[in-house]
Amino acid sequence: MQIIRDIETLREAVVALKQGGKSVALVPTMGALHDGHLSLVRMGREAADHVVASIFVNPTQFGPNEDFAAYPRDEARDAALLRGEGTAILWAPDVATVYPEGHSSHIEVAELGADYCGAARPGHFDGVATIVAKLFNQVQPDVAVFGEKDWQQLAIIRRMARDLDFPVEILGAPIARDHDGLALSSRNAYLSAEERKAAAAFPAALQQAAAAIAGGADVGKALADAEAAILAGGFDSIDYIALADAESLERLQQYRPPARLLAAARIGKTRLIDNHAVNASY
Ligand code: AMP
Repeated sequence: MQIIRDIETLREAVVALKQGGKSVALVPTMGALHDGHLSLVRMGREAADHVVASIFVNPTQFGPNEDFAAYPRDEARDAALLRGEGTAILWAPDVATVYPEGHSSHIEVAELGADYCGAARPGHFDGVATIVAKLFNQVQPDVAVFGEKDWQQLAIIRRMARDLDFPVEILGAPIARDHDGLALSSRNAYLSAEERKAAAAFPAALQQAAAAIAGGADVGKALADAEAAILAGGFDSIDYIALADAESLERLQQYRPPARLLAAARIGKTRLIDNHAVNASY
């Protein structure tokens, strides 16, 4: 696996990978890799001949009071994990390479970015859309793999690729979960042992609400019950919990497929997100 930090070397290496008509899958990450990330690499390897993974903790998607400086970083460990999965290239540029002095363009996917995490984290999805568009231009992949764990992000990237005619197929990978159902996340490392134990209440409440809604329960009541269960389980607050159209992300007061439950909640200093299918296909 080549570890590359400048765009010129990256372009040459990707051209070499694509020789003979071979395809390339991109797996963008912010590092601190766990099995969820590695499942994306595996999906990329199935979908394409070669995988390029990127590690870049993108400053423009963090708010001023968020955890950019504290975000966990361990490139040597991450590189070993990626190598073990057969990754061809690790693209790991620094901030000055990605955002040279005077960088002033950005992408906003207006319709899908306003609610949910977009409301709680102003500017976050502009930062995400912009870095993903830049990664597409840098790597020029045939396929790019993103996790369903970040459902709103995945919807935004699909829309951006469609709106801006990126010739990239977007694949969504199922949520990788820990033994007790908690979605794997680099931010789980922030949880104390006690918080980590309590955090299982979050996916459990979403799963229960999804089953209730699919079974015909009143949506407002199912969401209120889930909220109560999450708070009773030890969470301090809930940013949002909503039933949404799985593609347009429009809030739904009544169940109609395809729908997805979306939620974000805070425990101690940590903000966790999760989502759940309301029927088998979404
Ligand atoms: P991050 O490093 O958190 O920016 O995540 C990089 C990619 O991994 C994104 O496409 C995420 O949606 C995906 N991802 C993170 N956690 C999981 C998980 N538990 N299951 C599946 N995909 C995930």
